[in-house]
Amino acid sequence: MAAMKPSLNVQILVAAVSGVLLGCWLGGLPADGALRAGGLLACDIVGGVFVDLLKMVLVPLVFLSIAAGVANLSAHEHMHRIWRVTLAFFLFTTALSVAEGLLVSNWFRPGAGLDVSLFRDAMGHYQGQQLSLGEFGDKFIHSLFMNPVKAMAQGDVLATVIFALFVGVALVASGERAAGLLRLMNEAWGLVMLIVGWIMRLAPFGIAALLAKLAASQDAALLVSLGKFVAVVLGSVLFHGFVVLPGILYVLTGVTPAAFLRGGREALITAFATSSSSATLPVTLGCTQHQFKVDPGIAGFVVPLGATVNMDGTALYEAAAALFVANLVGVELNLAQQLVVFFTAMLAAIGAPGIPSAGMVTMVMVLQAVGLPAEAIAILLPIDRFLDAFRTMVNVEGDMIGSLVVQRVVRSASAKT
Ligand code: ASP
Repeated sequence: MAAMKPSLNVQILVAAVSGVLLGCWLGGLPADGALRAGGLLACDIVGGVFVDLLKMVLVPLVFLSIAAGVANLSAHEHMHRIWRVTLAFFLFTTALSVAEGLLVSNWFRPGAGLDVSLFRDAMGHYQGQQLSLGEFGDKFIHSLFMNPVKAMAQGDVLATVIFALFVGVALVASGERAAGLLRLMNEAWGLVMLIVGWIMRLAPFGIAALLAKLAASQDAALLVSLGKFVAVVLGSVLFHGFVVLPGILYVLTGVTPAAFLRGGREALITAFATSSSSATLPVTLGCTQHQFKVDPGIAGFVVPLGATVNMDGTALYEAAAALFVANLVGVELNLAQQLVVFFTAMLAAIGAPGIPSAGMVTMVMVLQAVGLPAEAIAILLPIDRFLDAFRTMVNVEGDMIGSLVVQRVVRSASAKT
């Protein structure tokens, strides 16, 4: 009898654990040895190809899921409700995560008592890009509306989302006249999802390679020296990801945390390994539609939008990091300043693209809004890839939970009418 092949979900889990173990082994080899260099190069190639393949389908997938998704939604009598619930859910959970980051940081005060002179060298070499709140807002608004060809060629997800929204609404307004085009787009969407399924067969290799590289390249000494900050960030990001979000999901939909983790595992592990909500998007959509059975019209709208604007992990991190820097340089932020951190951290998370370390770039704005030195980012950069893995996982989790909640609210409204 042929041995039964484990499901992709299980293969990915095994790959993740093996990748970390392989990375720890590679990291322990002599730094100048050929084995270590060869191993890391192989991980780079395999992991890189996996991410490239995901990025290859990203733009057509985002465009088609939003444009066709919105057009299909219009057939939905509850379209307005879907918009409203989606935005309300995104804003509420982001605000909650920033509040958690601020509370925990105020409580534990990471950075207080650390000797800032230890980091003087790194800070001195940091060439911070100045980014005031006004400039950030200006840049952000301009980045929303772009030539779609340019946006797609650059892989700019947010501008593609906006253009796709226009096309979706235009498809609705055209009604029967555009019925053929809508059918074509729905078929193209199905085709792209088929390709995503093929790419996912490579996921176990890609994920193992990415995690091996991540584990091998961590500077354990640095992580320990910033131990309290790392613990505060990880503790609160994981609390948000494993307690708060699943709690909200359970209360609103009845889906248990265990069922959610089982169904969403592929996307969560891919997010952790790639540190990119955008690269993970094809997988997130796959899990949302196939594992959680969310209506494609709802998933196709909520998930791509969420991948660019809904980032709970990033928002929490931005707030915690701002307080860490304040403690480090000995500045006491008063309530009004913490409110500024609260709102700018939310904005910075909404504006950050779903790519690795994007949150570090937009964090300059949060620091500057309360007069903290942007150069302090240099201290956090070396450990960012590690922390980014966790916050990206929670970012992607929020998008899947958002679509489940929206579906639930819409269904209960339909049942009442
Ligand atoms: N890497 C994160 C994401 O893609 C963004 C960030 O926090 O840097 O969701």
